[in-house]
Amino acid sequence: MKIALIAHDKKKNDMVQFTIAYKHVLEKHDLYATGTTGLKIMEATGLNIHRFQSGPLGGDQQIGALIAQNDMDIVLFFRDPLTAQPHEPDVSALVRLCDVYSIPLATNMGTAEIIIRGLERGDLKWRDIVQKI
Ligand code: PGA
Repeated sequence: MKIALIAHDKKKNDMVQFTIAYKHVLEKHDLYATGTTGLKIMEATGLNIHRFQSGPLGGDQQIGALIAQNDMDIVLFFRDPLTAQPHEPDVSALVRLCDVYSIPLATNMGTAEIIIRGLERGDLKWRDIVQKI
C-alpha cells in the first residue's frame, strides 16, 4: 500500500513515536510524507520515505494530487486542532479529496492506531468493499 504521513509541528513528536512503534508494519509499504515530517521520521526510524515539499509550501497538495490520480491508499495526518495553520486551505483540500476518493484518513493517533493494526493483520480490504457499494 501507499501510505502518506503528515504531522503538524506540535504533533511531529507523536508521529515519530508512532512510526517507531509501528516500523515493522510501515516498512512493508511505500511511504510518502511532507518534507519536515518525513525527515524527522527518517532520522528516527531509518525508514525509506519519499518526501514532498513541506506542508505550507505545497506538500499537502502534492499528496492530494496522488489521491486524485488514485495513487495513494492511506493518509495518516496528525493535525494540530489548537494552532492556526497558514496553509489551512490546503489541509481542508486534502481532507476533502480523501472523502471524494474514499481514502482512509486518520487525523489523530487513535484512528491511525486502528488503521495500522488493520494493516498489520492484513485485513484492510477497504478498496474491495468500497467498489462493491
Ligand atoms: P511538514 O508539513 O511535514 O513539512 O512540516 C506538514 C504540514 O504542516 O502540513
